[in-house]
Amino acid sequence: MPVSRAKRRISIATKFNLLTILIILMTSAGISFFLMHNVISYRYNSLLRHGLIVAGMASQTSEYCIYTGDRETMMQIVESLEVDDDVAYVCLLNKEKNQLMRKSFKSGLKIPPVSVVNSGDHGSPGKILYEEFVNTEDGNRYIEVIAPVVSFAAQKPNDGVENNTKDAHPEILGYVQLGLSLENLYKSINQFKVSAFLFTSLFIFIGIAFTLFLTKRITAPLKKLSLATKKISEGVFEQQISVRTNDEISDFASAFSRMIEHLRVYRDQLKHTAFHDSLTNLPNRNLFMERLERLIEHAKRDTQCAFSVLFIDLDRFKVINDSLGHLVGDKLLIFIAQKLEKCLRKSDTVARFGGDEFAILLDNVDDDFNAKFVAERILETLKEPFSLDGHRIVASASIGIVLQGEFYSRPEDILRDADITMYRAKMLGKARYAIFNAEMHARAVNFLQLEADLRHAIERSELIIYYQPIVSLERDEIIGLESLIRWQHPQRGLILPDDFIPLAEETSMIDKIGHWVIQNACAQNKAWHDMGFSNITITVNVSVLQFRHKELPEQIGAIIKNTGLPADAFELEITESTVIENKGLVLEIFKELNKMKIHLMMDDFGNGFSSIHNLKDLPFSTLKIDRSLILDIAVNPDASAIVKSIIDMAHSLKIKVIAEGVETQEQMELLRLYRCDYIQGYLLYCPMKAEEITHVLRQKNKPVSGAKHNDACGILPFTGEN
Ligand code: C2E
Ligand code: MG
Ligand code: MG
Repeated sequence: MPVSRAKRRISIATKFNLLTILIILMTSAGISFFLMHNVISYRYNSLLRHGLIVAGMASQTSEYCIYTGDRETMMQIVESLEVDDDVAYVCLLNKEKNQLMRKSFKSGLKIPPVSVVNSGDHGSPGKILYEEFVNTEDGNRYIEVIAPVVSFAAQKPNDGVENNTKDAHPEILGYVQLGLSLENLYKSINQFKVSAFLFTSLFIFIGIAFTLFLTKRITAPLKKLSLATKKISEGVFEQQISVRTNDEISDFASAFSRMIEHLRVYRDQLKHTAFHDSLTNLPNRNLFMERLERLIEHAKRDTQCAFSVLFIDLDRFKVINDSLGHLVGDKLLIFIAQKLEKCLRKSDTVARFGGDEFAILLDNVDDDFNAKFVAERILETLKEPFSLDGHRIVASASIGIVLQGEFYSRPEDILRDADITMYRAKMLGKARYAIFNAEMHARAVNFLQLEADLRHAIERSELIIYYQPIVSLERDEIIGLESLIRWQHPQRGLILPDDFIPLAEETSMIDKIGHWVIQNACAQNKAWHDMGFSNITITVNVSVLQFRHKELPEQIGAIIKNTGLPADAFELEITESTVIENKGLVLEIFKELNKMKIHLMMDDFGNGFSSIHNLKDLPFSTLKIDRSLILDIAVNPDASAIVKSIIDMAHSLKIKVIAEGVETQEQMELLRLYRCDYIQGYLLYCPMKAEEITHVLRQKNKPVSGAKHNDACGILPFTGEN
């Protein structure tokens, strides 16, 4: 294959210089040639004219002496011509062309015979002939002029009357042979050559000076600009172009400098955008990863280098975003970013990875300033309530920590483990930190599989609803059933809601699952109603995320209508904490549901910042006291006092009370004493499948005996491995 030859690169400056020199050379050569040509032909013609005149004059003056043969006069005539520099030799000839008198003015020069003039007519009187020749003896060039000596007097008639010259018949008496030397002509040509050479040299010198001047003024700045362009193409914008001229090039250079300046600004902006989060202005994932990688590399060389990574995810940010709007969500993120920065030193990096995820890189950690200390500080700072756009917000975060980042070789691995650990912190109840250990990794992998499986759980009919009876203390009979979802996993067995509902919430599968539970629970209760148990109310737990959709009441209305269940035989359970945190979001939907005569129950009351004050503004018809409070009532006077006052206050607000997690007779008796309306717990009934509930209902509400602890209800905690 022919290889294309690379073109030789000739710079503009070289082209410019070459062109200038070429123009100078051609101009000076042209001028010299023109001048030389004109001067030589002029001088040659002058010499020839001069020779012809001299020869003519000599022929006239020598007429008489040739006629008379006066040799003395001939000598005088010949010698008189010595003064003429151009005459090299002279010779008087008779008409037979024999030399009568001759004189050579150049030493050693032999006068050639007259026949050198080859052409022309020597016989014509008055006709002067000439010819240039090279003398074979001295090798020089000469012009030989032959002028005939004509006698008019010889023709005069004897009568003494002068004839008119016109009528006279001239007779040739002899010839004057004159040699003109071309030496002087050549001398002057040589002199001219020298002057032309000097003239051309001067011209070239001026030309070079001019080129240098132009180079300095034009090509040097152009070269600078071209170099600057090359550097820009390599991404170097930090350069100054100083052009000290005051012309178009300097305008061009300053425009170019301005362009570089703009490019530099754009480049910096671009760099900033590429490595920073546009909302919070914190470093983004790319910059974080770059710094992390550098630190890992540094740690490989320096064993003293110790660093940690914290992965932070805000708790319930989705809810805030959905309920209060994205603008408030954005403001919250900016606010959190500032708070995080305040918890760190200048040398640490806090980055936003997108959404509500942040990461922190702690360099040079020691006993005083380490990841645990920072995590605690962050959790403490976030705890403080603040107001945003008139909304009172309490933020919290789950933090995953990788303590010894220096043991990793890839930044992605550290982040993966920090992320897993953060997830663990979330699973442990949020608003806390967890520290990575290898076991978590295995657990996380397991969880990923679980997520994939959950996506198909409904279609594969793996979800089941268990029902736990709610018993009236006054009438000693079942008045309601709480729907509690379970997942019958083909490999892992029965999985309890706490182990997959958070996963469903995070992956938005909760909407589909929630809808399925309401649909099936209503249909099942309608079946029990049709069997004759028409006093049974079914309660369904709903996630706050289901309230993001304004059409929730409409969906429930449609299900109730389709199943034919009376609206007041259906109740929604919403945990207290989600109601308090998302008042704005839920209130409108609550009102809608109330209009549809659907009852609302506040679940897990007493677990968190409980305030009966909250109940006053919300349309709850029932309140369920959390198991954590019931657990202690028989042994802890404070707990029993709290439970009693909750019951009293709820009653004063015309709200019915359920106590959940009743496991002992003592607890039941105390609750009866406190005039609690209903109880629910393993003491009476475990959560059961629908068929078992039907059986219980048919037994005329006969309580299950001996179901006093979890094992009796067949409930094993989910470990992720079962
Ligand atoms: P929850 O609504 O507070 O339900 C009560 C939980 O306490 C149930 O656990 C129940 O089995 C358990 N329990 C009942 N009596 C006793 C007792 O005497 N002792 C003890 N130790 N526990 C008792 P479960 O079924 O594991 O449900 C846990 C949570 O999962 C529920 O708490 C509820 O918040 C949520 N959940 C259950 N089903 C659904 C659902 O369909 N949708 C949503 N969003 N959440 C659900
Ligand atoms: Mg509940
Ligand atoms: Mg509860």
